[in-house]
Amino acid sequence: MLYQRSSALFKDAQEYIPGGVNSPVRAFKSVGGTPIFIKKAEGAYIYDEDGRAYVDYINSWGPMIVGHTHPEVLSATVEQMKNGFSFGTPTELETEIAKLITSVVPNIDMVRMVNSGTEACMSAIRLARGYTNRDKIVKFEGCYHGHSDSFLIKAGSGAATFGNPNSPGVTQGTAKDTLLAEYNNLDEVKALFENNKDQIAAIIVEPIAGNMGCILPEKGFLEGLRQICDENGALLIFDEVMTGFRQAMGGSQERLNIKADIVTFGKVIGGGFPVGAFAARREIMNHLAPLGPVYQAGTLSGNPIAMRAGITTLNIINNDRELFTRIDKATETLDVEISKILAEKGIANKINRLGSMMSLFFTKQDEINNFTAVTKCNHDSFNKFFHHLLANGVYLAPSGYETWFISDAIKDTEINKTLDAVRSFEI
Ligand code: PMP
Repeated sequence: MLYQRSSALFKDAQEYIPGGVNSPVRAFKSVGGTPIFIKKAEGAYIYDEDGRAYVDYINSWGPMIVGHTHPEVLSATVEQMKNGFSFGTPTELETEIAKLITSVVPNIDMVRMVNSGTEACMSAIRLARGYTNRDKIVKFEGCYHGHSDSFLIKAGSGAATFGNPNSPGVTQGTAKDTLLAEYNNLDEVKALFENNKDQIAAIIVEPIAGNMGCILPEKGFLEGLRQICDENGALLIFDEVMTGFRQAMGGSQERLNIKADIVTFGKVIGGGFPVGAFAARREIMNHLAPLGPVYQAGTLSGNPIAMRAGITTLNIINNDRELFTRIDKATETLDVEISKILAEKGIANKINRLGSMMSLFFTKQDEINNFTAVTKCNHDSFNKFFHHLLANGVYLAPSGYETWFISDAIKDTEINKTLDAVRSFEI
C-alpha cells in the first residue's frame, strides 16, 4: 500500500485532533483519500512517512519560495536560536525587517508584525475602521483573508472547498458589516457604495486571487476599486499574503502598478515561520496603539527566530533579481506544456497564471474570472488528476479551489517529472 504509515498516523490523529488536522484543507476531504503525513523537506521535495518523495507545488501554501530548508535560511535561523527563543521585548531584528519591507514595498512607511495572515487582515480591517470611523467593509466572493469572523462570508480556500462559506459562530451582527461583491465586477461594488453612503471603511481584495484557484484581476478592475475608494473616502486594502514578495519584491502593487492604502502580508515574509504583517503610510499607522487608539498586540509578535528567517529569505530574493524571472518562466513552462498534453488527450481545460501562481481548471468555459465560474468546473476530474499526480510523486494542493506555488528549487528535472505524470493521466 502506497500510503500505509500515513493512513495509520491519520487514524491515530483523528482520535485527538478534530478531523486529524490543524487546518481543514489538509484533511483531503475534497479530493478524498488519506492525507499524506510529511516527515521532512528539502529543496523542491517533501518526503512522507512512508519514505516517498514528492515534487512540492504547495510549498507550505506559498512561503517556501526559495525552496525547503534553504541552507542560508537554515544556518541563520539556527544561529539566531542560540541567543534565545523569545523575549517579548523590542529587538533590533524587528527594525531591520521593517526597514527592509518599507524599502521594497511601495506606498508604505511603517509596518507592524503579527503571527499569521489572519491576524494581519483582521488588524488591517480594525485599523481601517478606526481610521475612517466607519463600520462596513467590502469583500469579494471566493477571496480568503483568514478565518476571522468578518471574512468568513463566502470565503475561498478551505471554506469554499467545504461548501459551508457562512460558518456557524459568525454572528448576524458581524456578518451585516461585510458587504459582498463578485470578483471582477465593478458595477456591484459601485452599487454597494451607493446603497451604503459614508458607511464603508474599506475594500479588501486579493489583488491576484489565489483562494478560489488562481483568478486574475481583469483590466480596469483594481484601477476601478482605487477610484471608487478615492471618491468615497474609503481605504483600499490589498491582501498580499500570497502575492507579497512573490509577484514582485513590491508585490502586486509593483507588478500591477496600483496603489493600496493598507497592505497585508504573510507566507513568504516569514520564510516558513508563523509571521504576518500589515503596513500603510505613516498617517494611517499613527492610529495604531501605542501611538493611537486602535488596539492590536501579540505575545510572540516579532519573534526573533521568525524575524531572522524572514529577513534572510527576503534578502535572498531581494539580492537575486533573476529569481522572479526564473520562477515565472518555470510556471509558464508548466502552463504551456500541461495545456498541450491535455489538449492532445482531448481533455478540456483552462489554466490561469500570473507570475509563479497558477491553477488548472477542468472546464469548457473560456474564462474563469470569478468564484461562480470556478464552481462550474469539473472538480471530480481535478480530484482524479490530483491523485494521479500524487501517486506519481507530484504534490498539488488537495483542492480545485487552490493555487500552485512554484519555488525556485523547481528546475527542469522536477518540471519533466511533473509533465511525465500528466502524460500518463487518463480521465
Ligand atoms: N489572506 C490570504 C490571501 C491567504 O491566502 C491566507 C492564507 N492562505 C490568509 C489571508 C490567512 O493567512 P493565515 O493562514 O496565515 O492565517
